Amino acid sequence: MILQTRGKVANLEHFIVGKISINKVEKDAIVIINDLNQVDFNHLYQTKAILTTFTLDSFTDLNLPIVYSVKTLEHLNQNDIIVLNVNGVINTLYRERSNHNFLFLTERCNSNCLMCSQPPKDRDDTAYFYEINSMLIKLIPGESCQTIGITGGEPTLLGEHFFLLIQKLKENLPNTFVQCLTNGRSFAWSNLAHRLNHINHDNFLLAIPLYSDIPEIHDYVVQAKGAFEQTVKGIYNLARYNQRIEIRIVLHKISVIRLKELGQFIYKNMPFVEHIALMGLEIEGYTPYNIDKLWIDPYDYQEVLKEVVHFLNDFGMNVSIYNIPLCLLPGDLWRFSVKSISDWKNIYFDDCVNCVKLNECGGMFKSSSKKSSKFIKAFD
Ligand code: SF4
Repeated sequence: MILQTRGKVANLEHFIVGKISINKVEKDAIVIINDLNQVDFNHLYQTKAILTTFTLDSFTDLNLPIVYSVKTLEHLNQNDIIVLNVNGVINTLYRERSNHNFLFLTERCNSNCLMCSQPPKDRDDTAYFYEINSMLIKLIPGESCQTIGITGGEPTLLGEHFFLLIQKLKENLPNTFVQCLTNGRSFAWSNLAHRLNHINHDNFLLAIPLYSDIPEIHDYVVQAKGAFEQTVKGIYNLARYNQRIEIRIVLHKISVIRLKELGQFIYKNMPFVEHIALMGLEIEGYTPYNIDKLWIDPYDYQEVLKEVVHFLNDFGMNVSIYNIPLCLLPGDLWRFSVKSISDWKNIYFDDCVNCVKLNECGGMFKSSSKKSSKFIKAFD
């Protein structure tokens, strides 16, 4: 699925965020024109901009921002929200028909995880993304948006702007469940956890990764010395200020060695967390470069996965398995399996069409075509 495309620009001096309207003039919309006969040209001035696959020749005398000669716009639907950038890049920010929308806050990060799927870039993009997301939040329809993610990079690196965006989410989308992916390190400073408590957003959860009960191993995975201590401190500060917390464990060759001990560590030291997600590895970003360090066939860690899931579940913890197809899981773990992969990167292999479990199975990441288990096999 395409989330970014590109065209040529005219009259565009600053990026524009807007809702899509297709061949129909709507006030403040970005109008996609793919049928010149359907459009009311006399009222186009009411719109924010035009987006089209046609060349500029079709729009002479039009003094509106326009992105033209775009290869394809078929991935965009009525009421999707996009940003038109001055370099002609068109990013999809929100898809009305999807449950997998997210606010992207920054490409910067204070960790550098071995398996990061979105490797960080060290440039200050925080003002740009703050402005875009502030506009986006106002345009998202609260009545239909049940859940939205926050991701990056590390979102808390926006500093005060991070908290202002959470505040805006609470005000504009109070009933939308917000799940924020963060490494949690910033919350080692208790005033930041206190700041969240002050916003008091009931539908807000922080999803924080932990890769080992041994500090040095966690620090190695995230490639940042002292990260374990900061993350654990952060989790405690957040709990102290009544924040909702999920712990995420990506399963790979390094984390599975002490998975049982990590489960025990979480149960003993963090019984207050709302949810624990054990997650299959995505072969994206840094992972292909670190594949020898990280890859283990999911089939080969099922015994320890079974042990830790049942341990946590038996002791009343809320535990789920993400990103692992059903044919790799023992039957007694199926009830913990969640269809977790975002629609735009979720695939099934050709053999899956013959599988009787197809409708219940979450499938794989698109990137599984680079490397996947030898044990994927259709149920008959
Ligand atoms: S064969 Fe495909 S659909 Fe069936 S369980 Fe495996 S991954 Fe899922």
